[in-house]
Amino acid sequence: MKIGIFGGTFSPPHLGHLAAARAAIEALELDKLLIVPAAVPPHKELPQGTPAPEHRLAMSEKMADALLMPGTAEVSTIELERPGKSYTADTLAALRKQYPDARMWLLMGTDMFSTFHQWHDPSSILAQAGLCAFGRSERDDKALFAALAEELEETLPEAKITVITLPELVEISSTELRELLAKGEGGDFLLPAVYGYILMNGLYGTHADLKHLDIPELRACSYSMVMQKRVRHIRGTEEEAVRLARRWGADETMARRAGILHDCTKYLELEEQLALCGKYGVELDELERRAVKLLHSKTGACIARYVFGEPDEVFNAIFWHTTAKENMTALEKILYVADYMEPNRTFEGVERLRELAYSDLDAALLLGVTTTIQEMKDRNLPVHRSTLRAQAWLREHGVTTEG
Ligand code: ATP
Repeated sequence: MKIGIFGGTFSPPHLGHLAAARAAIEALELDKLLIVPAAVPPHKELPQGTPAPEHRLAMSEKMADALLMPGTAEVSTIELERPGKSYTADTLAALRKQYPDARMWLLMGTDMFSTFHQWHDPSSILAQAGLCAFGRSERDDKALFAALAEELEETLPEAKITVITLPELVEISSTELRELLAKGEGGDFLLPAVYGYILMNGLYGTHADLKHLDIPELRACSYSMVMQKRVRHIRGTEEEAVRLARRWGADETMARRAGILHDCTKYLELEEQLALCGKYGVELDELERRAVKLLHSKTGACIARYVFGEPDEVFNAIFWHTTAKENMTALEKILYVADYMEPNRTFEGVERLRELAYSDLDAALLLGVTTTIQEMKDRNLPVHRSTLRAQAWLREHGVTTEG
C-alpha cells in the first residue's frame, strides 16, 4: 500500500494545495492520501486570528472531499489531537504503527523541501518515508530541484527523493490569500466549498453580508454545506431552472437562486433537520417527522429565507420542491421539474419529461408527481399527502401526462 502524507497549516487550504495533492496521487500512484493539518507547526508561528483547529479541519475535509476519492483521500486529526509542536517525525512514527507495511511518501512544496535538513529529527523521518517534492511557482524549475536534492543527499544520504512537476501551477500562499480575503478578494484561489465556509463563518476578516450575496458567493455558500458529489446536480438544477424560467416567463434570477440553494440542507441528519424546523417554526406531520428526505426541502427553504434573505417566492419554491402541492406557482413548478430532469438525471423516461417540460409545464409536473407516487408504491413507502393532492388537483384541472 502506498500512502501520501500531506502536512500543512491549511489556513486556509487553497487550489495550490489541491493541485499538488492531485498530482501526487497520480504520479506516485497512491492508494491513500492523508491530509494532516498541523496543530502547532514547528517551523512557523500561527498568525494571530488563525481560525480554531475545528475550522481548519472542516476546510481540509472539504479539500479531501473535492478529490472525490471517498475513503482514499482523508483528513487525519493525528496532529490536531497531539499536544505540543506537530513534529512530522512523531506523526510518521504513529502512522507507521497504524500502517506497518505501507510505503509512505511525505509531500512537500519547494519551501519545505529547501529547509528539510533543518527539520526536527530528519533521519527518523527518512527512515519511514520518501520525500515527494514539487515546485510552487515558475521559478522552481528542474535545475533548482536538482541542486536542492544534491545538497540534501550530501547531508542525508539515506533520503529517497522524487521530484514531480505539477501540471497546473497555482502561485499563491495561504498568507497572501488571507490578505486578499480580508480585502474581500481571493475567492478565485479557493475551492468554492472552502470559500463558502469562510464566508459563512466570517473567517480571515471577511464580513460578507449573507443576505445580499452575489451569485458566485451564494453558490460557494451552498456548496460549502453539501458533499462535493452533489454539486453537479445542484449546478444542473440551477441551469435547468433558469432555462425553464426563460421559457415560461418566470423570474430568472429567482429561479437561479432557488436552484442554487434547493439542496443546501440535504446532508443534515434527522436530528439537525428537526432542530432547524423547531427553530424556524415549521409545523410537521407524522410522516415528515421521520422522513429526512422530506425535511431537507423545508429546512433548505428556511436557510434560504432566514440566512440568505431570499424572498417568499424562493422560499416557497424550495419548500415544495420535494413533495409538490396543489395549485403551484410557476416558480414552484419550475424548480420541481428542473430538479427532476436536469441534465445529470438518467432514469428511464427522463427524455419524455424533458420534452414535456418545454411544451407543457403542467403536464411535466403531473408526470413527475405520478412517477414519484408510483416509485413510492413500488418500494412500499408512504406517499406524502401533498404529492397526492398535487396529482388530484392537476387531474381535476384537465391536465394529462400526454401534454
Ligand atoms: P502559509 O502562507 O500560511 O505559510 P502555505 O500556503 O505555504 O501557507 P501550508 O499549509 O503551510 O501553505 O503548506 C502545506 C504544504 O503545501 C507545503 O508543503 C507547501 O509547500 C505546499 N504548498 C503551499 N502552497 C502551495 C502551492 N501554491 N502550490 C503547491 N504547493 C503548495
